[in-house]
Parts: sequence; C-alpha cells; structure tokens
Amino acid sequence: MTTLSYDQLRALDARHVWHPFTQAATAPPPILALGAKGATIYGADGREYLDMVSSWWVNLHGHGNEAIAAAIAEQAMRLEQVIFADFTHEPAARLADRVCRLLPGDLDRVFFSDDGSTAIEVAMKIARQYWSNQGSDRRVFVAFDGGYHGDTVGAMSAGRSSGFFGAWENMLFPVEVAPFPATWDGDDAATREAQALAVLDEIFDRNRDRIAALIIEPLIQGAAGMRMCRPEFLQAVAARAQAAGTLLIFDEVMTGFGRTGAHFACLKAGVTPDLICLSKGLTGGFLPMSLTVAREEIYQAFLGPDLLKAFLHGHSYTANPLGCAAGLASLDLLEAPACQGRIRAIEDIHRQRLPDLMARHRQLIQPRVCGTIAAFTLPGQGYGSAVSARLKKDFLENGVLMRPLGDVLYLLPPYCIEDSQLHRAWDTVDFVLSRL
Ligand SMILES: *Cc1c(COP(=O)(O)O)cnc(C)c1O
Repeated sequence: MTTLSYDQLRALDARHVWHPFTQAATAPPPILALGAKGATIYGADGREYLDMVSSWWVNLHGHGNEAIAAAIAEQAMRLEQVIFADFTHEPAARLADRVCRLLPGDLDRVFFSDDGSTAIEVAMKIARQYWSNQGSDRRVFVAFDGGYHGDTVGAMSAGRSSGFFGAWENMLFPVEVAPFPATWDGDDAATREAQALAVLDEIFDRNRDRIAALIIEPLIQGAAGMRMCRPEFLQAVAARAQAAGTLLIFDEVMTGFGRTGAHFACLKAGVTPDLICLSKGLTGGFLPMSLTVAREEIYQAFLGPDLLKAFLHGHSYTANPLGCAAGLASLDLLEAPACQGRIRAIEDIHRQRLPDLMARHRQLIQPRVCGTIAAFTLPGQGYGSAVSARLKKDFLENGVLMRPLGDVLYLLPPYCIEDSQLHRAWDTVDFVLSRL
C-alpha cells in the first residue's frame, strides 16, 4: 500500500501536520489509522478501536460502507464537480428533493455548503438578509447557553457562551443568550424551563422588532456535553418565536439523520423551524457537505429584479456531485428497515446498560438517552482535566474510542454497530470507571 514505513509517516505528520482541537505539546502522538470497517478502526499499532464517537459524529452506516463507496466511484466517473451557478446536476436535484420530502412543513429550499459551520453561516446570513430585503432592520440573534454551532466567526458568535472561543472574543458580534434547561432521565425540568422561557420573554421585550432569528440545537446540545431538553421546551420556544414574528433556526448538524431516533430532531419535537442546518451524517460520514434548508416563504423574499436582493453567497465546491451521490446512497441505507431496526436496538441497549452502570458507580449523575446517544456526568472534571485525559487514554488502551466532553461521557456509535460490540463498549466503560 505505502512505500513509507509507519514510523516515517508518523515523522512526517509530527513535522508538518497541525491537528484540530489538540495541544500538540502535551497530547500523545496521533494514532496512525490504516483502515476501518464497520464500527472498527484499524491502527498501525496493531490495535482495533471501536468507534464510539462515529468519528466526530459523522459516520452513520459504518466505515468502508460499500454501497456509499460504489455510489461515489460511479459518480466520479460521470461528473466529479461542476460550477453550481448556472449549472445543476442529477445528484444535487435528487438529494434536495429527497431531504425536503423527509423534512416537515414547507422546508423546501436547499442551499448547499461544505460543513456544519458554513451551514450555520448561511442560515444566519439568510436570516439577516431576509429581513433587510423587506426593509426591516432586524439583526439581533438569540442563542442558548452552552450552544455550539461551529468554528467560523458567525457560528462562534452564536456559540460564544460555549466557552471555547476566548482567544477570539473581540472578533465576535454580540448575541443575546437565553438559558438552556438541560434535563436527564427521571428529572423534572419544568421549573428550569419556565425560568428559561421567562428570560427569553425578557429578551424579546428588550429587543422588540430587532430580533432576526433564534438559533438552537434541538433536543441535544452536542459539544456542550450532550445536554438534552424536552420537546415541550422547543415547542414553547417556537411559539414565542412565532408570536414575536422572528425566525427560528434549528442547528441539526449533529442531531440530523437518525441520531435522536427520528430522522430529524424537529420531527421528534413536533416543531417546524424556518431554517434547518444539516451536515455531519449527511453523506454517511464519507465526504464533507452540508445543507441549509429554508421554508419556501423565505426563499421568495430573495426574488425580484434586483441582483443585490439575491443571496450572493457560495463556495467553490457547492453541491459537489460526489457528496450528493454519497448523501443519496446514505439516505437509501438510513430509510431501510434494517437500519431503523439497528437504531432502535442501540437505544434499547443504552436504556438497559446505563441504569446498570449508574447503580454500580454511585458517583455518576444525570443519566440520559436520546435515540442512539447515551450520556452521563462524572462530576468535577472540567475540559482538559487530568481525569478526562486519563479516561480517554484508558478507553483507547481497551480498544474503545471515546472522547469525554469535559465531565461528560457519552456513547454515539455508528448505526451498523453490532449488539455484541455495543455491549463490549459498555463493559469497557464499566471497567475503566472501576479502575479510576
Ligand atoms: C459539529 C457541529 C457544528 C459544526 O460543524 P463542522 O462540520 O465541524 O463545521 C455545528 N453545529 C453543531 C450542533 C455541531 O455538532
């Protein structure tokens, strides 16, 4: 396969590569991945790793999925890329149609971009221009405490309360931040929800006719530590957004494509937003691509004789045909009964194993499960804490890829994972915790 030795490859990486979210001065060297199949990643160290983070939440049907690989190869022989202004192509038109059919209401207009962050930038820019096209000065964005929306400037601004962006604080624009009433199994969140809604009401009062949009990760805040909220809360937020005449943006970059058990969190919550951002699972984890889907009425506000009323935004690889082909193949798999059965089986195993784990490790708190995601909190370990680094290392040494989010441990497997593999992951969590 390669003419270089593994050590030579590691040396090249150490000399020239800058890894994301990594303090290279203290982090262990990266694991050299030779390949991956299903839920398993094969390391050059001879180890096998169960991918319990779905490779940063992107992988749905397992690594090396042959149907998706074949769809990409076939598309590459036909049309690998074409400029997406003045041109269109079959996989883009079909993917847009397919996604709109799955989404609720008149979420019928698809804007393609490249990753979750750009999908958010697009949604925020559309929201702002939707108002200015109509002569309105609505420009304030409302976000929720702990929300994470990506690493570009608009997305960082919306996610500034996540606490990751201190170095860039003076590059960000102000947003209003409402509390997020995080909840867990057996918890009664009603009081926290009422408090959050009271703050939201106060924000609306203070910014009458100035709010462009609310942005929220529906049902689960991912990067904040798999913090979950009840559908009732989203319904109340949507009702307030509607009453205030402002737009509602759902960031379903992580929750989309089956993660919460439903195809999309908005369906599970019974709320139709005005704009929805999709990315991570879109191509089944094969290629970077994202969609910002708008309600038809929003699109209509950009039409007219004036070029400057159009949405003058785009990226070099907008609607890349290979990504679209991967997305279509991934949707075929996602909608098949076999995959839906796996999604239910994963949730069943989570719901069986998590209470068990809580009973055996009394220091754990706030157990929570939503669809294929299970999480719990090990109190007192902040981001970058020694315990969280040690846990990550212990999991890897036991053949499981898990990355604690601060004091939160979570399991977010690809849907193809076998029962026995998922049980092994839970056994490993139990084992590693018992050695702490
Ligand atoms: C990952 C993520 C993003 C950013 O997506 P990228 O592809 O990393 O740019 C945005 N929102 C949510 C909810 C995410 O989980």
